[in-house]
Amino acid sequence: MIHRKNNVLFERIKVITSLPDAASADLLDIEEVDRLNSSDKLQAVINDAYVSVVGGKFAYVGKDRAKAVNVFDNSKYDIYNGRDLVLWSSMANTHGHIPMTLMRNQTDDHNLHDWLFNVVFPMEARLTPEHVYHGTVLGLAEMIRSGTGAAADMYYHSNSVAQAALEAGFRLNVCCDGKKEGADGKNHVVPEEISDFQSHWQENFGDLIRTSLLVHSVYLYEPYLYRELAQQTSDLGISVQVHISETQKEVDDCIAKYGRRPPAQLDNFGLLSDSTIAAHCVFLDDDDRALLARRGVTVAHNPSSNFKLGSGFADIDAMIKAGIRVSLGTDGAASNNNLNLYQEMRLAGFLAKGLTKDASCLTAPQLIRMATYNGMRGLGFDNTGCILPGWTADLQIVDTNNAAMTPLGNIDAALVYSADSNYVESLMVDGVWLMYKKELKTIDEEYAIAEANKFSASLRA
Ligand SMILES: [Zn+2]
Repeated sequence: MIHRKNNVLFERIKVITSLPDAASADLLDIEEVDRLNSSDKLQAVINDAYVSVVGGKFAYVGKDRAKAVNVFDNSKYDIYNGRDLVLWSSMANTHGHIPMTLMRNQTDDHNLHDWLFNVVFPMEARLTPEHVYHGTVLGLAEMIRSGTGAAADMYYHSNSVAQAALEAGFRLNVCCDGKKEGADGKNHVVPEEISDFQSHWQENFGDLIRTSLLVHSVYLYEPYLYRELAQQTSDLGISVQVHISETQKEVDDCIAKYGRRPPAQLDNFGLLSDSTIAAHCVFLDDDDRALLARRGVTVAHNPSSNFKLGSGFADIDAMIKAGIRVSLGTDGAASNNNLNLYQEMRLAGFLAKGLTKDASCLTAPQLIRMATYNGMRGLGFDNTGCILPGWTADLQIVDTNNAAMTPLGNIDAALVYSADSNYVESLMVDGVWLMYKKELKTIDEEYAIAEANKFSASLRA
Protein backbone atom coordinates (compact mmCIF):
# COMPACT_ATOMS: atom_id res chain seq x y z
CA MET A 1 0.00 0.00 0.00
CA ILE A 2 1.51 3.31 -1.10
CA HIS A 3 0.22 6.59 0.26
CA ARG A 4 0.82 9.82 -1.60
CA LYS A 5 3.19 12.30 0.04
CA ASN A 6 1.73 15.75 -0.38
CA ASN A 7 3.46 19.01 -1.21
CA VAL A 8 1.70 21.62 0.89
CA LEU A 9 2.14 25.31 1.63
CA PHE A 10 0.55 26.37 4.92
CA GLU A 11 -0.18 30.09 4.76
CA ARG A 12 -0.46 32.59 7.62
CA ILE A 13 -0.72 29.87 10.23
CA LYS A 14 0.34 29.88 13.90
CA VAL A 15 3.18 27.43 14.56
CA ILE A 16 4.33 26.11 17.91
CA THR A 17 7.21 23.70 18.25
CA SER A 18 9.52 22.26 20.86
CA LEU A 19 13.20 22.54 19.94
CA PRO A 20 15.76 19.78 20.44
CA ASP A 21 18.26 22.42 21.57
CA ALA A 22 18.57 26.22 21.56
CA ALA A 23 20.78 26.27 18.44
CA SER A 24 18.08 24.58 16.31
CA ALA A 25 16.02 27.80 16.45
CA ASP A 26 18.43 29.05 13.78
CA LEU A 27 16.78 26.63 11.32
CA LEU A 28 13.63 28.74 11.57
CA ASP A 29 13.42 31.82 9.35
CA ILE A 30 12.31 34.17 12.12
CA GLU A 31 13.54 37.16 14.09
CA GLU A 32 14.66 36.72 17.67
CA VAL A 33 11.58 38.61 18.84
CA ASP A 34 9.30 35.84 17.54
CA ARG A 35 11.06 33.20 19.64
CA LEU A 36 10.47 35.28 22.74
CA ASN A 37 6.75 34.56 22.49
CA SER A 38 7.50 31.62 24.74
CA SER A 39 8.99 31.71 28.21
CA ASP A 40 10.75 28.44 27.45
CA LYS A 41 13.88 28.85 25.30
CA LEU A 42 13.35 25.34 23.95
CA GLN A 43 10.10 26.30 22.31
CA ALA A 44 9.32 28.58 19.39
CA VAL A 45 6.02 30.24 18.57
CA ILE A 46 5.55 31.91 15.19
CA ASN A 47 2.49 33.93 14.24
CA ASP A 48 1.53 34.40 10.57
CA ALA A 49 3.99 31.70 9.54
CA TYR A 50 4.56 29.96 6.24
CA VAL A 51 5.38 26.26 6.34
CA SER A 52 6.34 24.22 3.27
CA VAL A 53 6.13 20.42 3.17
CA VAL A 54 7.97 18.69 0.31
CA GLY A 55 8.56 14.95 -0.13
CA GLY A 56 7.59 14.03 3.43
CA LYS A 57 9.74 16.67 5.12
CA PHE A 58 9.45 20.24 6.27
CA ALA A 59 11.38 22.34 3.75
CA TYR A 60 10.71 25.84 5.08
CA VAL A 61 9.37 27.24 8.37
CA GLY A 62 9.34 30.99 8.77
CA LYS A 63 7.86 34.35 7.86
CA ASP A 64 8.76 34.83 4.20
CA ARG A 65 6.19 33.68 1.64
CA ALA A 66 8.54 33.96 -1.34
CA LYS A 67 11.11 31.69 0.29
CA ALA A 68 8.39 29.26 1.32
CA VAL A 69 7.18 29.00 -2.30
CA ASN A 70 10.69 28.77 -3.68
CA VAL A 71 11.38 25.38 -2.07
CA PHE A 72 8.76 23.72 -4.32
CA ASP A 73 11.06 24.42 -7.28
CA ASN A 74 8.21 24.69 -9.79
CA SER A 75 6.57 21.41 -8.70
CA LYS A 76 2.89 21.46 -7.79
CA TYR A 77 1.67 22.10 -4.26
CA ASP A 78 -1.59 22.51 -2.36
CA ILE A 79 -2.35 25.58 -0.26
CA TYR A 80 -3.72 25.23 3.27
CA ASN A 81 -5.16 28.50 4.58
CA GLY A 82 -4.02 28.87 8.19
CA ARG A 83 -6.54 31.43 9.43
CA ASP A 84 -7.57 30.62 13.05
CA LEU A 85 -5.44 27.47 12.95
CA VAL A 86 -2.45 26.23 14.95
CA LEU A 87 0.09 23.86 13.41
CA TRP A 88 2.07 21.71 15.85
CA SER A 89 3.62 18.27 15.89
CA SER A 90 1.42 15.21 15.93
CA MET A 91 1.74 13.46 19.29
CA ALA A 92 3.50 10.21 20.25
CA ASN A 93 1.69 7.73 22.51
CA THR A 94 4.56 5.83 24.11
CA HIS A 95 2.65 3.16 25.98
CA GLY A 96 -0.37 1.12 25.05
CA HIS A 97 -1.93 -2.12 23.98
CA ILE A 98 -3.83 -0.89 20.94
CA PRO A 99 -5.96 -4.00 20.21
CA MET A 100 -7.41 -3.79 23.74
CA THR A 101 -9.88 -1.31 22.24
CA LEU A 102 -11.98 -4.47 21.79
CA MET A 103 -12.25 -4.73 25.62
CA ARG A 104 -13.21 -1.09 26.13
CA ASN A 105 -15.85 -0.49 28.81
CA GLN A 106 -16.00 -4.16 29.79
CA THR A 107 -13.29 -4.61 32.43
CA ASP A 108 -13.81 -1.70 34.77
CA ASP A 109 -13.35 -1.03 38.48
CA HIS A 110 -10.90 -3.82 39.35
CA ASN A 111 -7.52 -3.31 41.01
CA LEU A 112 -4.60 -4.05 38.72
CA HIS A 113 -3.63 -7.59 39.67
CA ASP A 114 -7.24 -8.77 39.85
CA TRP A 115 -7.98 -6.90 36.58
CA LEU A 116 -5.02 -8.48 34.76
CA PHE A 117 -5.17 -12.08 35.96
CA ASN A 118 -8.93 -12.60 36.42
CA VAL A 119 -10.53 -10.32 33.84
CA VAL A 120 -8.10 -9.51 31.02
CA PHE A 121 -6.09 -12.72 30.61
CA PRO A 122 -9.22 -14.92 30.15
CA MET A 123 -10.49 -12.60 27.38
CA GLU A 124 -7.07 -12.49 25.74
CA ALA A 125 -7.01 -16.29 25.54
CA ARG A 126 -9.69 -16.00 22.82
CA LEU A 127 -7.83 -13.48 20.66
CA THR A 128 -6.95 -14.35 17.05
CA PRO A 129 -4.81 -12.31 14.63
CA GLU A 130 -8.07 -11.03 13.08
CA HIS A 131 -9.26 -9.69 16.44
CA VAL A 132 -5.94 -7.93 16.90
CA TYR A 133 -6.01 -6.42 13.42
CA HIS A 134 -9.51 -4.98 13.76
CA GLY A 135 -8.89 -3.77 17.32
CA THR A 136 -5.78 -1.99 16.08
CA VAL A 137 -7.52 -0.28 13.18
CA LEU A 138 -10.14 1.04 15.60
CA GLY A 139 -7.44 2.34 17.96
CA LEU A 140 -5.55 4.00 15.12
CA ALA A 141 -8.71 5.78 13.97
CA GLU A 142 -9.25 7.07 17.51
CA MET A 143 -5.63 8.23 17.87
CA ILE A 144 -5.54 9.97 14.48
CA ARG A 145 -8.72 11.87 15.35
CA SER A 146 -7.18 12.98 18.65
CA GLY A 147 -3.89 14.33 17.24
CA THR A 148 -1.65 11.28 17.65
CA GLY A 149 0.47 10.11 14.71
CA ALA A 150 2.79 7.61 16.41
CA ALA A 151 2.51 4.98 19.13
CA ALA A 152 4.18 2.16 20.95
CA ASP A 153 2.34 -1.12 21.04
CA MET A 154 2.92 -3.95 23.47
CA TYR A 155 0.74 -6.90 22.56
CA TYR A 156 0.50 -10.24 20.80
CA HIS A 157 -0.09 -11.20 17.14
CA SER A 158 2.19 -8.25 16.41
CA ASN A 159 2.30 -8.78 12.66
CA SER A 160 -1.40 -7.86 12.62
CA VAL A 161 -0.71 -4.69 14.62
CA ALA A 162 2.15 -3.64 12.35
CA GLN A 163 0.13 -4.44 9.21
CA ALA A 164 -2.74 -2.23 10.37
CA ALA A 165 -0.35 0.64 11.14
CA LEU A 166 1.39 0.32 7.80
CA GLU A 167 -1.92 0.41 5.91
CA ALA A 168 -2.97 3.49 7.89
CA GLY A 169 0.38 5.27 7.33
CA PHE A 170 0.82 5.50 11.13
CA ARG A 171 4.19 5.45 12.95
CA LEU A 172 4.58 2.47 15.26
CA ASN A 173 7.11 0.92 17.60
CA VAL A 174 5.75 -2.61 17.79
CA CYS A 175 6.70 -5.36 20.22
CA CYS A 176 7.65 -8.87 19.28
CA ASP A 177 6.67 -11.48 21.87
CA GLY A 178 9.06 -14.14 20.53
CA LYS A 179 8.44 -16.77 23.23
CA LYS A 180 7.18 -20.34 22.80
CA GLU A 181 6.80 -23.45 24.92
CA GLY A 182 9.88 -25.67 24.59
CA ALA A 183 10.42 -29.40 25.03
CA ASP A 184 10.80 -28.89 28.78
CA GLY A 185 7.25 -27.53 28.98
CA LYS A 186 8.50 -24.02 29.78
CA ASN A 187 8.40 -20.86 27.68
CA HIS A 188 11.63 -19.97 25.92
CA VAL A 189 12.75 -17.20 23.61
CA VAL A 190 12.82 -18.15 19.90
CA PRO A 191 15.70 -16.06 18.50
CA GLU A 192 14.84 -16.63 14.79
CA GLU A 193 11.29 -15.43 15.33
CA ILE A 194 12.53 -12.17 16.82
CA SER A 195 15.24 -11.55 14.22
CA ASP A 196 12.84 -12.37 11.34
CA PHE A 197 10.24 -9.99 12.79
CA GLN A 198 12.82 -7.25 13.24
CA SER A 199 14.36 -7.56 9.81
CA HIS A 200 11.03 -7.88 7.96
CA TRP A 201 9.49 -4.75 9.44
CA GLN A 202 12.51 -2.50 9.85
CA GLU A 203 14.25 -3.33 6.60
CA ASN A 204 11.12 -3.09 4.44
CA PHE A 205 9.08 -0.47 6.26
CA GLY A 206 11.62 1.36 8.42
CA ASP A 207 10.23 4.80 7.58
CA LEU A 208 7.20 4.05 9.73
CA ILE A 209 7.85 0.91 11.78
CA ARG A 210 10.28 0.29 14.64
CA THR A 211 10.47 -3.04 16.46
CA SER A 212 11.13 -3.91 20.07
CA LEU A 213 11.06 -6.85 22.43
CA LEU A 214 8.12 -7.55 24.74
CA VAL A 215 9.34 -7.81 28.32
CA HIS A 216 6.01 -7.51 30.10
CA SER A 217 7.29 -6.71 33.59
CA VAL A 218 9.63 -7.96 36.28
CA TYR A 219 6.87 -10.14 37.76
CA LEU A 220 5.54 -12.25 34.90
CA TYR A 221 8.45 -14.56 33.97
CA GLU A 222 11.00 -16.79 35.69
CA PRO A 223 14.61 -15.51 35.89
CA TYR A 224 15.99 -17.72 33.07
CA LEU A 225 13.56 -16.09 30.60
CA TYR A 226 14.80 -12.56 31.40
CA ARG A 227 18.34 -13.72 30.70
CA GLU A 228 17.24 -15.18 27.35
CA LEU A 229 15.48 -11.88 26.52
CA ALA A 230 18.56 -9.85 27.49
CA GLN A 231 20.66 -12.04 25.20
CA GLN A 232 18.42 -11.00 22.30
CA THR A 233 18.78 -7.30 23.08
CA SER A 234 22.56 -7.59 22.89
CA ASP A 235 22.59 -9.93 19.87
CA LEU A 236 20.09 -7.93 17.78
CA GLY A 237 20.36 -4.43 19.27
CA ILE A 238 16.58 -4.54 19.63
CA SER A 239 14.89 -2.15 22.04
CA VAL A 240 12.63 -3.15 24.94
CA GLN A 241 9.14 -2.22 26.10
CA VAL A 242 8.46 -3.01 29.75
CA HIS A 243 6.12 -2.04 32.60
CA ILE A 244 8.12 -0.88 35.64
CA SER A 245 6.97 -0.29 39.23
CA GLU A 246 3.32 0.17 38.35
CA THR A 247 2.06 -0.85 41.81
CA GLN A 248 3.44 -1.02 45.34
CA LYS A 249 2.75 -4.76 45.26
CA GLU A 250 5.07 -5.17 42.26
CA VAL A 251 7.86 -3.40 44.14
CA ASP A 252 7.31 -5.38 47.37
CA ASP A 253 7.15 -8.72 45.53
CA CYS A 254 10.32 -7.92 43.56
CA ILE A 255 12.26 -7.06 46.71
CA ALA A 256 11.00 -10.25 48.38
CA LYS A 257 11.98 -12.41 45.37
CA TYR A 258 15.23 -10.80 44.23
CA GLY A 259 16.34 -8.46 47.02
CA ARG A 260 16.24 -5.55 44.58
CA ARG A 261 13.67 -3.01 43.42
CA PRO A 262 12.27 -3.51 39.86
CA PRO A 263 14.55 -1.06 37.98
CA ALA A 264 17.69 -2.45 39.62
CA GLN A 265 16.58 -6.03 38.98
CA LEU A 266 15.76 -5.38 35.30
CA ASP A 267 19.14 -3.65 34.98
CA ASN A 268 20.75 -6.66 36.62
CA PHE A 269 19.18 -8.82 33.91
CA GLY A 270 20.64 -6.41 31.30
CA LEU A 271 17.33 -5.01 30.05
CA LEU A 272 17.70 -1.24 30.56
CA SER A 273 19.22 0.95 27.84
CA ASP A 274 18.63 4.21 25.99
CA SER A 275 16.16 2.42 23.71
CA THR A 276 14.06 1.02 26.58
CA ILE A 277 10.54 2.37 27.05
CA ALA A 278 9.49 1.97 30.69
CA ALA A 279 5.78 2.38 31.28
CA HIS A 280 4.30 3.78 34.51
CA CYS A 281 7.21 4.08 37.01
CA VAL A 282 4.73 5.06 39.72
CA PHE A 283 6.80 3.83 42.67
CA LEU A 284 10.39 5.04 42.26
CA ASP A 285 12.90 6.07 44.88
CA ASP A 286 15.93 8.32 44.31
CA ASP A 287 18.17 5.38 43.37
CA ASP A 288 15.59 4.11 40.83
CA ARG A 289 15.40 7.54 39.20
CA ALA A 290 19.18 7.94 39.08
CA LEU A 291 19.49 4.51 37.46
CA LEU A 292 16.81 5.17 34.81
CA ALA A 293 18.45 8.53 34.00
CA ARG A 294 21.90 6.95 33.78
CA ARG A 295 20.68 4.28 31.35
CA GLY A 296 18.83 6.86 29.21
CA VAL A 297 15.49 5.04 29.57
CA THR A 298 12.37 6.81 28.27
CA VAL A 299 9.56 6.76 30.83
CA ALA A 300 5.99 6.57 29.51
CA HIS A 301 3.75 8.39 31.99
CA ASN A 302 0.14 7.12 31.95
CA PRO A 303 -1.74 9.19 34.54
CA SER A 304 -5.29 8.15 33.55
CA SER A 305 -4.50 4.44 33.73
CA ASN A 306 -2.62 4.81 37.02
CA PHE A 307 -5.62 6.59 38.53
CA LYS A 308 -8.27 4.32 37.09
CA LEU A 309 -6.56 1.10 38.18
CA GLY A 310 -6.01 2.58 41.63
CA SER A 311 -2.23 2.28 41.25
CA GLY A 312 -1.21 5.76 42.41
CA PHE A 313 0.70 8.86 41.27
CA ALA A 314 3.96 8.98 39.33
CA ASP A 315 6.17 11.88 40.45
CA ILE A 316 7.10 13.39 37.08
CA ASP A 317 8.67 16.50 38.56
CA ALA A 318 11.18 14.34 40.45
CA MET A 319 11.89 12.30 37.31
CA ILE A 320 12.58 15.39 35.21
CA LYS A 321 14.82 16.83 37.94
CA ALA A 322 16.71 13.51 37.96
CA GLY A 323 17.33 13.91 34.22
CA ILE A 324 14.93 11.24 32.89
CA ARG A 325 13.33 11.67 29.45
CA VAL A 326 9.60 11.54 30.20
CA SER A 327 6.89 11.03 27.59
CA LEU A 328 3.14 10.36 27.66
CA GLY A 329 1.03 7.26 27.09
CA THR A 330 -2.60 6.27 27.34
CA ASP A 331 -2.12 2.59 28.17
CA GLY A 332 -4.77 0.26 26.70
CA ALA A 333 -8.42 1.16 26.28
CA ALA A 334 -9.31 -1.47 28.88
CA SER A 335 -7.69 0.69 31.57
CA ASN A 336 -8.26 4.30 30.47
CA ASN A 337 -10.82 3.99 28.55
CA ASN A 338 -9.67 6.08 25.60
CA LEU A 339 -6.49 6.72 23.61
CA ASN A 340 -6.70 10.52 23.79
CA LEU A 341 -3.36 12.18 24.59
CA TYR A 342 -4.95 15.63 24.99
CA GLN A 343 -6.50 14.28 28.19
CA GLU A 344 -3.19 12.75 29.36
CA MET A 345 -1.29 15.98 28.74
CA ARG A 346 -3.77 18.02 30.78
CA LEU A 347 -4.02 15.46 33.56
CA ALA A 348 -0.23 15.05 33.77
CA GLY A 349 0.15 18.79 34.32
CA PHE A 350 -2.57 19.02 36.95
CA LEU A 351 -1.28 15.92 38.74
CA ALA A 352 2.27 17.27 38.97
CA LYS A 353 1.09 20.66 40.24
CA GLY A 354 -1.22 19.08 42.80
CA LEU A 355 1.37 16.59 43.97
CA THR A 356 4.15 19.16 44.45
CA LYS A 357 1.78 21.96 45.56
CA ASP A 358 3.72 24.13 43.10
CA ALA A 359 1.82 25.51 40.11
CA SER A 360 5.07 26.38 38.34
CA CYS A 361 6.11 22.74 38.05
CA LEU A 362 5.55 20.89 34.76
CA THR A 363 4.73 23.86 32.51
CA ALA A 364 2.68 23.82 29.31
CA PRO A 365 5.86 23.94 27.13
CA GLN A 366 7.25 20.96 29.05
CA LEU A 367 4.02 19.01 28.57
CA ILE A 368 4.03 19.73 24.83
CA ARG A 369 7.62 18.53 24.66
CA MET A 370 6.72 15.30 26.49
CA ALA A 371 3.80 14.66 24.12
CA THR A 372 5.80 15.30 20.94
CA TYR A 373 9.61 15.40 20.76
CA ASN A 374 10.33 13.26 23.84
CA GLY A 375 7.79 10.68 22.73
CA MET A 376 9.16 10.41 19.19
CA ARG A 377 12.69 10.03 20.59
CA GLY A 378 11.47 7.29 22.92
CA LEU A 379 9.81 5.43 20.03
CA GLY A 380 13.08 5.58 18.09
CA PHE A 381 12.11 8.11 15.40
CA ASP A 382 14.88 10.63 14.83
CA ASN A 383 14.24 14.11 13.43
CA THR A 384 10.55 13.73 14.19
CA GLY A 385 8.39 15.65 16.66
CA CYS A 386 9.55 19.23 15.99
CA ILE A 387 8.44 21.60 13.23
CA LEU A 388 11.88 22.24 11.73
CA PRO A 389 13.28 22.23 8.17
CA GLY A 390 14.73 18.82 7.33
CA TRP A 391 12.57 17.04 9.91
CA THR A 392 9.80 14.63 8.94
CA ALA A 393 6.47 16.26 8.12
CA ASP A 394 4.49 14.95 11.10
CA LEU A 395 1.96 17.55 12.17
CA GLN A 396 -1.55 18.29 13.32
CA ILE A 397 -3.77 21.27 12.67
CA VAL A 398 -5.99 22.56 15.48
CA ASP A 399 -8.94 24.87 14.81
CA THR A 400 -9.00 27.55 17.50
CA ASN A 401 -12.13 29.31 16.26
CA ASN A 402 -14.35 28.01 19.06
CA ALA A 403 -15.69 29.32 22.36
CA ALA A 404 -13.51 27.08 24.54
CA MET A 405 -10.27 28.44 23.06
CA THR A 406 -11.24 32.14 22.98
CA PRO A 407 -9.31 34.30 23.62
CA LEU A 408 -6.41 32.19 22.45
CA GLY A 409 -3.74 33.82 24.64
CA ASN A 410 -0.60 31.72 25.01
CA ILE A 411 -0.79 28.95 22.44
CA ASP A 412 0.95 26.36 24.61
CA ALA A 413 -1.51 26.97 27.46
CA ALA A 414 -4.41 26.87 24.99
CA LEU A 415 -3.34 23.48 23.62
CA VAL A 416 -2.65 21.91 27.02
CA TYR A 417 -5.35 23.38 29.24
CA SER A 418 -8.31 24.36 27.06
CA ALA A 419 -8.06 22.43 23.80
CA ASP A 420 -10.00 19.28 23.18
CA SER A 421 -9.29 16.59 20.61
CA ASN A 422 -12.53 17.55 18.85
CA TYR A 423 -10.73 20.63 17.54
CA VAL A 424 -8.08 18.60 15.68
CA GLU A 425 -8.91 19.31 12.04
CA SER A 426 -6.11 17.51 10.16
CA LEU A 427 -3.17 15.21 10.82
CA MET A 428 -0.17 14.36 8.64
CA VAL A 429 2.50 11.67 9.10
CA ASP A 430 5.59 11.61 6.91
CA GLY A 431 3.95 13.98 4.41
CA VAL A 432 0.78 11.86 4.08
CA TRP A 433 -2.61 13.10 5.21
CA LEU A 434 -4.15 10.58 7.62
CA MET A 435 -6.94 13.04 8.38
CA TYR A 436 -7.76 16.01 6.15
CA LYS A 437 -10.33 18.54 7.34
CA LYS A 438 -12.01 15.98 9.63
CA GLU A 439 -12.07 13.12 7.13
CA LEU A 440 -9.90 10.04 7.73
CA LYS A 441 -7.99 9.36 4.51
CA THR A 442 -6.33 5.98 5.14
CA ILE A 443 -8.96 4.21 7.27
CA ASP A 444 -12.58 3.43 6.39
CA GLU A 445 -13.93 4.50 9.76
CA GLU A 446 -17.48 3.19 9.38
CA TYR A 447 -16.19 -0.26 8.42
CA ALA A 448 -13.60 -0.18 11.22
CA ILE A 449 -16.28 0.48 13.85
CA ALA A 450 -18.58 -2.24 12.50
CA GLU A 451 -15.78 -4.84 12.44
CA ALA A 452 -14.57 -3.86 15.90
CA ASN A 453 -18.06 -4.32 17.33
CA LYS A 454 -18.32 -7.75 15.70
CA PHE A 455 -14.92 -8.97 16.91
CA SER A 456 -15.41 -7.50 20.38
CA ALA A 457 -18.69 -9.42 20.77
CA SER A 458 -16.94 -12.66 19.84
CA LEU A 459 -14.53 -12.25 22.78
CA ARG A 460 -17.49 -12.62 25.12
CA ALA A 461 -19.38 -15.27 23.17
ZN1 LIG B 1 0.41 -1.35 29.91
